[in-house]
Amino acid sequence: MLCCFFALFISSVAFLIFGEQYLFPILCGVVSIIASMISLHVVPAELNARMKILVTEDISNAVVCFDKDGKIVFKNAKAREILSDDALCAQKLADFNETNRASLTRPEGIVVFGEGRIFNAVYRRLFDKRFRLIGTFLALTDITSESEELVSERFRSETDPLTGLFNRAHFFREAQRELRNEPNEPRYFVCTNIRNFKLVNALFGSEFGDLILMTQARMLKKANYPGTIRGRISGDRFAMLIKKKDFNPELAIKNTERIQDFMGDIRYKLHISLAVYEITDPTENVYAMYDKTSLALRDIKDDYSQTLVFYDSAFMEKLVHEKWIVSSFEAALSSSQFEMYLQPQVGSKQGKVVGAEALVRWNHQERGKIPPSEFVPILEKSGHIYKLDSFIWEEAAKKLADWKKRGIDLYIAVNISAKDFYYLDLYSVFTNLVEKYEISPSKFKLEITETVIMNNVSSHAAVLSRLQNAGFQIEMDDFGSGYSSLNLLCNLHTNVLKIDMAFLSQTENTIRAKKIILSIIKLAKVLKMTVVIEGVETEEQVLYLSEMGADIFQGYFFSRPLSALEFEERYSLGGEK
Ligand code: C2E
Ligand code: CA
Ligand code: CA
Repeated sequence: MLCCFFALFISSVAFLIFGEQYLFPILCGVVSIIASMISLHVVPAELNARMKILVTEDISNAVVCFDKDGKIVFKNAKAREILSDDALCAQKLADFNETNRASLTRPEGIVVFGEGRIFNAVYRRLFDKRFRLIGTFLALTDITSESEELVSERFRSETDPLTGLFNRAHFFREAQRELRNEPNEPRYFVCTNIRNFKLVNALFGSEFGDLILMTQARMLKKANYPGTIRGRISGDRFAMLIKKKDFNPELAIKNTERIQDFMGDIRYKLHISLAVYEITDPTENVYAMYDKTSLALRDIKDDYSQTLVFYDSAFMEKLVHEKWIVSSFEAALSSSQFEMYLQPQVGSKQGKVVGAEALVRWNHQERGKIPPSEFVPILEKSGHIYKLDSFIWEEAAKKLADWKKRGIDLYIAVNISAKDFYYLDLYSVFTNLVEKYEISPSKFKLEITETVIMNNVSSHAAVLSRLQNAGFQIEMDDFGSGYSSLNLLCNLHTNVLKIDMAFLSQTENTIRAKKIILSIIKLAKVLKMTVVIEGVETEEQVLYLSEMGADIFQGYFFSRPLSALEFEERYSLGGEK
């Protein structure tokens, strides 16, 4: 407007001085052009800029504008609050410039008035119409509360709510990431299991079970070495990825035993078992590692003497061997590869053979004679033992029938496995056998070990007592090698107590051991039990054990187990054919 007045003023003066009439309209035209330019262009641009300032001043986002040389040309009110320090602004621009990108969006943490907050930063380069850089624009939006929610949401989705450890999916993710990050670090994959946890829940309630799980998680959290990943995989199954240098197997066993402290006065033995896999290939899938440790845990599930198992080449070989035994068992049984051997039992008074123990032998075509210690425990574990035992019992019954016919008055003791109680109705099996072969049940002795009773005392004891009432003799085998023998003596009225001399050979303190054997013999006598000593290897043993009151001997001193034919030949059991 000022320009307009100025132009009009000049033109009026010129008109007055020069009196040139034509000048006036020309000047009026020029003035009107300038006035329209000003009103059409300059005023809206100014308005525009002011409006932009007003709007940007008012918004909650921080906005900073840099010129092409990095000088700050605009900061709105929020930016002045958050990025009051120009050096910080310059640093942010420099960081962005380093990316060489036209625009960038990323979360950034900034301390505002002493409080750490998270912003979403948007950087954008500004160009003119000819694509020449004219500056850079930066906008910051506060996303602190959203990200806190995001963090707690993530925490919920990654954590086991009961124990606070990683949940299954997150544990595997983190373990794989850790292995990728430091592939050269030697590590173990460890998995734990609480034995019979279902029983704990059933006996004491699931709330009590939860407390045990929380206690175990706390114990695992103590292994707080950098790079250790811990998680709850399912139920009572926990897993851990740990550096080899941070894991001491002996200490780990001791720590697992400490869970018992939690039980306080409650008389229940908690067992935690551990499986350890040494990682040799860090690219191996962590799920595969878990499967391996799970397999190893399953393998020692019922073996309470073993707390820790390594999944290593020896374990794999053992698995292969077990698989071989189990898969070739059925065919071997039907092709008569199993044979009943007899080891004589000698009466201390009679000084001659009074009976025999039936011991199985596997005559394998290629592998020769396989000893029972190599396959009996495996068949027990796989649940096949009852088939083998049924076969040996039938062989024994046949032999007893044969001897009866030939007037040979000897008994046969057969072994009964704990698992047989689960698969067979033992009362029917043995009563049917004596009926079928018309033999006296008193000639059939049934050897059981304490493991038979450990799992289910009352129902198994009832079966045994029915068999006793039917005339069978029950022998307690391997007495003293386990740990609940006195309990058993109380609850089970067996007819025979069988003590293994291995007990004597395993100790340095023979004088003390002999005193213990003497006391056991006396105890058995008080309970009106016959005492059989097995594993007798020397004459000296026979002499002092006879003096102590042992009734029957079995052992290499008299004979190794023999085939039925050898047995009969050796003892000239021609009989009255
Ligand atoms: P067991 O029932 O304790 O059998 C006694 C074992 O001691 C036998 O081993 C026998 O050969 C061995 N032995 C006998 N005298 C001596 C001796 O003087 N010194 C030493 N060091 N050992 C002696 P075997 O035949 O190898 O049987 C091992 C185990 O396998 C048996 O221990 C028994 O638990 C199991 N077993 C054998 N046959 C059968 C069967 O038919 N069924 C079941 N369920 N288990 C069986
Ligand atoms: Ca036996
Ligand atoms: Ca034995």
